[in-house]
Amino acid sequence: MKKHNFSAGPSILPEYTIKNTADAILNFAGTGLSVMEVSHRDKEFMAVMEQANKLFKELLDIPSGYEVLFLGGGASMQFCMVPYNLMNKKAAYLNTGTWASKAIKEAHFFGEVVEVASSKDENFCYIPKGYEIPSDADYFHITTNNTIFGTEIKEDLDVNVPLVADMSSDIFSRPIDVSKYSVIYGGAQKNLAPSGVAFVIVKEDALGKVDRKIPTMLNYKTHIDNESMFNTPPVVPIFSALQTLIWLKEQGGVKEMEKRNIAKADMLYSEIERNKMFKATVKNIEDRSVMNICFVMNDEYKDLELEFREFAISKGMVGIKGHRSVGGFRASCYNALPVESVKALIDVMQEFEKKH
Ligand SMILES: *Cc1c(COP(=O)(O)O)cnc(C)c1O
Repeated sequence: MKKHNFSAGPSILPEYTIKNTADAILNFAGTGLSVMEVSHRDKEFMAVMEQANKLFKELLDIPSGYEVLFLGGGASMQFCMVPYNLMNKKAAYLNTGTWASKAIKEAHFFGEVVEVASSKDENFCYIPKGYEIPSDADYFHITTNNTIFGTEIKEDLDVNVPLVADMSSDIFSRPIDVSKYSVIYGGAQKNLAPSGVAFVIVKEDALGKVDRKIPTMLNYKTHIDNESMFNTPPVVPIFSALQTLIWLKEQGGVKEMEKRNIAKADMLYSEIERNKMFKATVKNIEDRSVMNICFVMNDEYKDLELEFREFAISKGMVGIKGHRSVGGFRASCYNALPVESVKALIDVMQEFEKKH
């Protein structure tokens, strides 16, 4: 049976990425060696790194003055690298969920943290608006897509201080205006590559402004100066990331992805609204994530949650169980998820409705 992979992360990747990675595991760039066993300083891998960097910049239309880094440690390492490198005394954070809360916790090690607003009061089911950012904050940190709660900030915000964004789960899902940000970071395992590598887009002139000493490995400058090769980079995930970037370009880039992603999300949210058994957990339409679509059983059908989950699994749906902090269901519809999978899920929802 065909599997439809709605996993939140690690998650679905393009066939192209998986196939080319499988081939390179056996024979990398005609070297007769596996990509797992070559030196990261061999010219074949240096070319991969260079091309990944170039395509990353091209696809997101990154202006000059910014560098792209590929680092270990996941997005979670960035929760401390950001304040280490950018916070002198004070930083502002928007608390929109689990990942934002974790970022806030780390920032507290480095100075005063102002939580400008939080949606914790309603289990993070909306994006707070109308908050004020202290003008003396060294930066303002947001999580653009809240993978667990299914909310998303879909616009590039205009703010009065340097902007930093965790874009782990919506990078490459739509065009962004990079010039509005000082740092954009994320783990690759949602929309780009297998786990093991994080990306960081950093504006060079945002650096060098803090008084503290920064350990070498945690200093963005180290990785800029060494083109992500200060230490051994995650070679295989970077190879896979390059395959996804090549695929993205062939498909028409982030504009085309945005079109497809909105179409997929609209189809699924419409079915959730129409189907008497389900309801969306995010009420404000403008806050609804295009990537992670969260829904629960309507109150009258609460007892059928387990039955629906098992029914969906029996029809080939993978990874639609909601995160434990929300419950219900979450369909992650990343770039590589074909529209056919969304249609298959909708069929399952309709079949289940007819059964009851
Ligand atoms: C998955 C995720 C993270 C954590 O990523 P790791 O690479 O596991 O550290 C952080 N932020 C967001 C928004 C995520 O979706």
